[in-house]
Amino acid sequence: MEQAQPSRVAVITGAAQGIGRSIALRLAEDGLDVAVNDLASKINELTEVVSQIQARGGRALAVPGDVSLEGDVEAMVATVVQCLGGLDVMVANAGILVSPLKPLVETSSESWDATISVNLRGAMLCYKYAAMEMIKQGRGGRIIGASSICGKQGMSWLSAYSASKFAIRGLTHSAAAELAQHNITVNTYSPGCIETTMTANPDVEKTLNLTADTPRAKPEVIASLVSYLVKPEAYFITGQTIMANGGSTMD
Ligand code: NAD
Repeated sequence: MEQAQPSRVAVITGAAQGIGRSIALRLAEDGLDVAVNDLASKINELTEVVSQIQARGGRALAVPGDVSLEGDVEAMVATVVQCLGGLDVMVANAGILVSPLKPLVETSSESWDATISVNLRGAMLCYKYAAMEMIKQGRGGRIIGASSICGKQGMSWLSAYSASKFAIRGLTHSAAAELAQHNITVNTYSPGCIETTMTANPDVEKTLNLTADTPRAKPEVIASLVSYLVKPEAYFITGQTIMANGGSTMD
């Protein structure tokens, strides 16, 4: 008789709402055990995601913490490994878009640092601690980051955000090259306009000129892309940034 394979374990950061929440629900539906991270201030939302997964018979855990803090990321990965038995998938989704958006000449170094510390250092720390655990386990893995349409084309009034989303692609290329020997793939998704709190902000809508004609989609579109990248059959895709933007820009 064939032995049942143990479930794979995924961590999704920034999973209290929006794209991260949708990815968590989708990966749970796909049969993975899921740990959901977000800031401690979002513990109620995280608990709600955990309850929803558990009500459908899945295994889930809330691991609050700030991804820009190395100690929090290290502790998050350790807790997941201890409670769920390992780590196979890291989705470094957490990101911020500091509003009000401003042109470069009015951008403060504080707002620049805030963006880079969550969007880039946070992703780097998640990649690093996930990779350390995956290498130790020796059973491969999937690391996935959140780039953006702004990570392929810089846009006015988005210098820090665009720079962080370009940089995630460089991080992803390097990590993919280093980790291939461990059967770990590293990719990013690059969404266009997805209907979340981030884009439902009037300042963002106005500055980015988001109109009724702008192609837009629900977070489930990104969750579906991540679901594919996590599947064993996606082993040959690595070092890529995959755009999902309704044709707003084309590669
Ligand atoms: P969102 O603002 O709805 O959700 C982001 C989540 O990340 C929030 O719950 C927030 O609390 C959490 N977060 C912020 N800082 C954190 C930190 N330091 N530690 C842990 N969690 C933190 O955003 P979203 O639209 O769901 O975006 C998710 C990702 O996709 C982001 O990286 C974003 O830049 C990227 N993205 C979004 C769009 C879009 O159109 N919505 C487009 C391109 C890229």
